[in-house]
Amino acid sequence: MRTIEAASLQVEGVELAFGTNKVLRGVDLAVPAGHTACVIGPSGSGKSTLLRAINRLLEPDAGDVKLGGESVLRGDPDVLRRRIGMVFQHFNLFPHKTVLDNITLPLRKIKKLDTDAAQEAAREQLELVGLKEKAAARPGNLSGGQQQRVAIARALAMKPEVMLFDEATSALDPELVKGVLALMADLAQAGMTMVVVTHEMGFAREVADQVAFMDHGVVVESGVPEQVFTDADSPRLRQFLSQVL
Ligand code: ADP
Ligand code: MG
Repeated sequence: MRTIEAASLQVEGVELAFGTNKVLRGVDLAVPAGHTACVIGPSGSGKSTLLRAINRLLEPDAGDVKLGGESVLRGDPDVLRRRIGMVFQHFNLFPHKTVLDNITLPLRKIKKLDTDAAQEAAREQLELVGLKEKAAARPGNLSGGQQQRVAIARALAMKPEVMLFDEATSALDPELVKGVLALMADLAQAGMTMVVVTHEMGFAREVADQVAFMDHGVVVESGVPEQVFTDADSPRLRQFLSQVL
């Protein structure tokens, strides 16, 4: 994988409510440059909301988000989204555009690359995710695993400093999960800063530098995988792990 210019990410006391529903109640998470943090926790605990608050698809009510030590909450959200790539459970590809166009579109619209430069960057990324021969295909003619690899290529083509993954393999047929996890593991290995919301405990154990357990809008406990999975302090984390492992 090509050289990556990754940045550190700090989430400090982030709060966010939907009306009266306080979904994030002071989230702290520090991910050094090049590290992978896996976020685990029950459904409804605020994991997706946290990722959306990090790249300002939702604006936090309080707290701060820092990239490379600098707050990103006051600048232009579009600039921030160039620096932070996000991959969703349901891929979010444009169904009527080719694979290549899906990747070149943000490069042209947001990065203002000309068509040739955008296509060159897109083809390079497609090759890295093993889908060079699918450039002219429509997403609907690809497997879910291939579609997710296209979505990852689209995010990586922007040369982000941080990548966020929200249950990137949850919608995939079981036999397609491994290929996407392997790509994510390669990216972690290559030195990307990553926040990975996942139910794949094997991935968290093997790939994460740190695992953060969220419940009711806070990070209840975090640590290296070995500690979190075998020697958790919090009763809530112990109970969660007893249900998922
Ligand atoms: P998780 O990803 O951990 O399952 P979410 O962050 O999706 O949790 O949701 C946390 C809480 O926020 C839930 O109670 C959910 O109903 C609420 N919520 C999420 N998104 C919205 C929204 N756009 N509007 C209102 N409530 C929302
Ligand atoms: Mg979620």
